[in-house]
Amino acid sequence: MVVKCKRCGVNNAEIYLAHSNLRLCPDCFMLLTERKVKHAVETYKMISKDDNIGIAVSGGKDSSSLAYILSKSFEKIPITLIHIDLGIPNYSQHCLEKVKELSKIIDRELVVYSLEKELGFKIPDFKATIYGKKMCSACGAIKRYLFNKITYDLGLTKIATGHNLDDTVEALFNSYVEGNVGALVRLRPFLPKTHPKMMPKIKPLIGLTDMECLIYAEYRNLPIRSLGCQFSESSRTIRRKRLLNLLAENMPNFKHTFISSHFRRLLPCLETALKDHETKIYECPNCGMPTSLEGVPCHFCKIVSIVLEKKDKHASEAG
Ligand code: SF4
Ligand code: ZN
Repeated sequence: MVVKCKRCGVNNAEIYLAHSNLRLCPDCFMLLTERKVKHAVETYKMISKDDNIGIAVSGGKDSSSLAYILSKSFEKIPITLIHIDLGIPNYSQHCLEKVKELSKIIDRELVVYSLEKELGFKIPDFKATIYGKKMCSACGAIKRYLFNKITYDLGLTKIATGHNLDDTVEALFNSYVEGNVGALVRLRPFLPKTHPKMMPKIKPLIGLTDMECLIYAEYRNLPIRSLGCQFSESSRTIRRKRLLNLLAENMPNFKHTFISSHFRRLLPCLETALKDHETKIYECPNCGMPTSLEGVPCHFCKIVSIVLEKKDKHASEAG
């Protein structure tokens, strides 16, 4: 049976959003998706007219949708796409091609930072180190540090990332399980500057699920990667997301309820309880960037020295 779109009532519905029990045609779906992003930007006051935004792009469905929607919805705001070439065989070349295509389509500048050229190592080099079984942990820490540093060095005002509702629910869930109160308080749609070199971070896709981002990117025909990273199976994030999807199968609005309870009810209580416990921020003696550790190299400098030491050792053994 052909079902009409719940919004326009004219076109045939092609998309079913279980969490809101809505059947939509592609045009209405894309319009509502863009409205959700604008709504999040306005609700959390993520963008102001003087901003000069950096968008972290990976070649994936989330960051590509984000770059497309922000460019379209905030035409007058300067936007720079920032991509980190991780040096993962096949995967990284493929991602780079996709972000180059995206930058042409939306007509925004692309800055590419190559780990190998700039720092002398690639993500696969971590395999031989203590991070061999937690590659994503090393890779994630490197990306977080570099996106912040590149945004700062380029003189941009904020960095936007493609973290969506599923990513946020997964991260909150993990922090609850671990009792990591600090992480629960830091995780928010708009994280303002807490140090002159700690750039404000915004997550305009906070109201969209993984599935909505994928369908949007496909209907818009955006260039997105079709290859997966060879290290993704070891990712605990992906395993936790599978578990949360099982819950959502039985309770379709579980993720939306979880996130809104956290931001509306629990976060204000946590902030009040922690208001006298501000985390001190120091500067890394090695790179000068912000860190929570006093007098010792920051996490980034530590893991970079681990991977470079291992590479040197291998080179001298081979030589
Ligand atoms: Fe990096 Fe893990 Fe993502 Fe691969 S799956 S790009 S190693 S974070
Ligand atoms: Zn450092």
